[in-house]
Amino acid sequence: MTEYVRPCPKCQSTNTKVTSVDHKEDHIARYGRCLDCGNKYITRERVEEKIRTNTGNFKLNQHQVTQIGLNIHNLSTYDWADIYEVSPATISKAKERFLRLALTVTSI
Ligand SMILES: [Zn+2]
Repeated sequence: MTEYVRPCPKCQSTNTKVTSVDHKEDHIARYGRCLDCGNKYITRERVEEKIRTNTGNFKLNQHQVTQIGLNIHNLSTYDWADIYEVSPATISKAKERFLRLALTVTSI
């Protein structure tokens, strides 16, 4: 499974480190530490079985969907369509997919 950078929930720095990953029955828990402010947090990622199986037919992979969903550089749908060479409609679908991943971040 691809590891993607999640910004620190406290200072938004992307200089973070995943210290451990727990594969639970219904979600993945990642224990992270921010190398800038020292904040420790857990990222819980609920991945629906349906999304996983559909991804095979989808033009964008999980990593790309996450990049589009997080959108840390605040790009428009058309910018993303240019970057990944897909239609704007595909980008909109990617945004919907990302929201369905129901990501939660908890500070510890
Ligand atoms: Zn931080």
